[in-house]
Amino acid sequence: MAITRSARRRNWGEMPHDLLVKIFALLNFLERMTIAAGVCSSWRAAAADDPSLTKKMIDVALFRENAAPELTHTRAQQQIDLAFARAINLTGSQLLSLVFDPLSDIRDKHLKHAAHRCPKLEQLVLPFPNAIKKASLNKSFQSWPNLRSLSIPFNGFLETTSLYKLAGSCFRDLVVLKVSTYIFPKHHFKAIAKFIPNLEILHLQCHVVETNFIVQQLSAMPELKHVYISCLEFQHSTAKRDIRDLGSSINGARNRNKLPSLQLFHHCNWNETECEVPQCNLWI
Ligand SMILES: [Zn+2]
Repeated sequence: MAITRSARRRNWGEMPHDLLVKIFALLNFLERMTIAAGVCSSWRAAAADDPSLTKKMIDVALFRENAAPELTHTRAQQQIDLAFARAINLTGSQLLSLVFDPLSDIRDKHLKHAAHRCPKLEQLVLPFPNAIKKASLNKSFQSWPNLRSLSIPFNGFLETTSLYKLAGSCFRDLVVLKVSTYIFPKHHFKAIAKFIPNLEILHLQCHVVETNFIVQQLSAMPELKHVYISCLEFQHSTAKRDIRDLGSSINGARNRNKLPSLQLFHHCNWNETECEVPQCNLWI
């Protein structure tokens, strides 16, 4: 059959939106952002019609998992950078949840780009803070006045409490704090109570948690409703403390109305198997 002039001039950009969405559903998220979204405005709009983006959420781990294994690290990172920038630009002011991935190479430029484009952010999972310059963290945090939930993965010992201070001063509505680290020192409870006194949910995933004065510090957060501590070991002063002692201390404080809002104090052994309490497994 002869190809007509009109057929030769058919504009791929005029394909029906719903059809493009169905075709792009065959691609992974990274491919949708790097290939489909780069063609033209109508393809970009169809690529943005993605379950993840319509949920107003970007999880950078998806990009890393979608990268072809045969790519060099540099080439894979270039694709992730491009996909990240496009996903941020496509959701922009609608984005509510941004999940950085500690295993991806996240740098200042990623944080700054998100801070510039996504002023309504409510939920943030940081990359390792020591991979980001303090000035960038400072400026980015100031761009998110609506933030309510912050997750911080530390890849070493917690030396300073400055991040809690910064979060407390920038995120006035912060009610959920999740921290993952090796050792959670006792003075960090004090810092959280001081800088984020209106916290409602505190979630720790650590190897070791130091529990000196924990009841006293938790009592300084009158709005605290849920505490999840998933760890391998509790330490009290220089001795290991039996978790039953801590549980009875918490119960005693509740009976004396020292923890007026506390509904749940959950602790479990941090290991490879998932905890039976679903919220305890949630890092987001
Ligand atoms: Zn648990």
